[in-house]
Formats: sequence, structure tokens, C-alpha cells
Amino acid sequence: PFFQEFVLEEYPKPDALLAKLNANENPYGPSPMAVDALKKVATKGNRYAWRELFDLIDKIAAHEGVKAENIIMGPGSSDILEKTGMVFFKGGGNVVSADPSYMSLMRVAEATGGTWKPVPLKDDWSHDLDAMEAAVNEYTNLVYICNPNNPTGTLTDPTKLLDFCSRVSEKVPVFVDEAYLGFLGDGTKQSMVSLVNEGKDVIVARTFSKIHGMAGLRVGYGVAQPETIARIQEITRGGMGISYTSIFAAMASMDDVAFQDKSRTLNAAARDYVFTSLKDMGLEPVPSYTSFMIFPIEMEGKDFLEKMTALKVGVRAFQFLGKKWCRVSMGTMDEMKIFVSALQKVLV
Ligand code: PLP
Repeated sequence: PFFQEFVLEEYPKPDALLAKLNANENPYGPSPMAVDALKKVATKGNRYAWRELFDLIDKIAAHEGVKAENIIMGPGSSDILEKTGMVFFKGGGNVVSADPSYMSLMRVAEATGGTWKPVPLKDDWSHDLDAMEAAVNEYTNLVYICNPNNPTGTLTDPTKLLDFCSRVSEKVPVFVDEAYLGFLGDGTKQSMVSLVNEGKDVIVARTFSKIHGMAGLRVGYGVAQPETIARIQEITRGGMGISYTSIFAAMASMDDVAFQDKSRTLNAAARDYVFTSLKDMGLEPVPSYTSFMIFPIEMEGKDFLEKMTALKVGVRAFQFLGKKWCRVSMGTMDEMKIFVSALQKVLV
């Protein structure tokens, strides 16, 4: 009944694809300033970055308007999601989240001894906040919200979400995954970080993988109460997985606001083109607020993936809400043209 993914026997080799649109990567990154920083510090790869990590933490804290003690670092936000899943569910309990949503934390929670309590998204694709609040019970250890949501690309009204997080976090910690927030023009206004300053037990996860185009460099962070951070770090130290070089790339990328603006603008243009092209084909794409888009396909999921891969286009295929869906990441405009023409051949 729940979210399911179709997979190929073998993940396609990136070099064998003309358009790699299967992992929500930013095709423009890393920023030129981040690349310069990487080159400059490459020879420092023999050192641990203990001192340097604090500089990045200070910079992030200033950017988010919080204290350094509110920041937990990880090699990608996956690290924060997974450690939270391990620590919060090692004694059992349930995690309430939307279905479909980004499954990383829930999968680890399940593997660790917890159970997943899925709450279907509403018809307008937003989180069903009332139903999620009602789903919280005495065994709930955490609520997970992904906004904008993956794999749907859709947004839940930030004012309503702020109210929900503020109230529900009095009962149980709320984890808000804001991986794609950077693609919203006024992203920072929609963030839940302000709740951390109000003392609420909210954990906000952010990443350099998306708007900063640094997925392969592995830097992410969480903003939370110091006690919650201490709890998440009960299992392993937060920053130990981040490389010396990536720390400098992240600091440089934060200064390259022009690169982030460029990523946002070109992503929106690719999204408009794909949305219109899919509509022209008679398909029903879901309006997206992120760097990817979903649309229903009337075809067996694995067969679809095989045919798209044969045309050198990498995408993802899922099943939920009784339908099969393709999720396509926004690449360059050239890649999106290759994608549309492959789709025209496959969906005949
Ligand atoms: N959260 C969401 C919603 C994602 O889509 C992803 C990656 O696709 C991640 C977190 C993890 O990204 P990373 O570990 O690169 O920060």
C-alpha cells in the first residue's frame, strides 16, 4: 500500500548516460569559488580539520541566525537523518511522517527497532498536518517533515507548518528536512530555523548537496537544541566524516551568492520547460517547488526505466497513491531536451 520504488538490476554508469537525472543533483555545481578553494587546500589533505570545522560552524551559525552550539555537522544531511534515526529508535517507538516522503530517516528507524506511521499527503500534495498531529501517540519518538517534499516536489504552507511544529514539538521532537528550500526564491523566510531560537525541540536539516551543487563533496548540517544535538551525537561525533577540503569548499560556496542565484534561475527555467513539454504530451506533471518533478506513467516501472536507460537517460520510478510515477531531476536545458525526446519515444 505504501511508497515503493522500481529499480534496475544495475545502477547505470554515470558516464554511459547523456542525461543523468536520477539523483536530484545540481548540474551547475560546485560553484567556481568552491572549486578554487578545493584546489588551494588540496595539499592540506594530510590534516584533520578539527579547528577549521569550527570556522565553518561559526559561519553557518551566523548565516542561520543561531548560536554555534545549535549546529551539528555531517558529511551530507543523510548523516544527520541516519544518526537521528538510530539514536531515537534504538529502544523502539514510532516515527510519524507523510507518505510518500523521503525515506532515509524512516528506513534507519525501522532497521533500528522503530516503526513507521505513514500519513498520506492531502489531495493538494501538502502535508496533512491535522492527521499527523492526531497520529502522534505515547509511542511516538519523532515526527519527520520534508518541506518541500521528496519525491513529490511539493510544498506545505510554511505558516501552517510553523504553527504545527511549534505546537507538536512541545510533545515530541519534530525533524524538518529542508534539503530543497534553497530553490524557493524566498527560502529563508519559509525555514523552520526560527523555532530553534524560540527554544522549541525542532531539528532542521540543511545540505550543500542541492542549491550549492556539492552532492559529491558531502557537507550537511542540522540546526537544533544543544541537548538534542548531544543526543544525536551519542553514537558518533558529528563532524568526523567531513573532509578538510570540503569544509573550505562549503565556506567559499556560502560566499558565492551569485552561483546560488544562477542555480535557482536555471533550475526554474528547466522546470518550466519540462512542465510545459509534459503537458503538451498529455501528461499530468505535479507542479514542483524543487529541482525535480514527478508525473504519472502508464507503464510498468522497471520496463520504463530500462527503456529510458537504453536511450541514455537516467530517471527514477516509483509507485504510490495507486499510480506509477517517473521522477526526473532538473539538469541543464540540453539534458532536459534529451529527456523529453527520449520520453516521447518510450511513452508511445
Ligand atoms: N533529504 C532529502 C529530502 C533529499 O532528497 C536528500 C538527497 O537527495 C537528502 C536529504 C540527503 O542529501 P545529502 O546527504 O546529500 O545532504
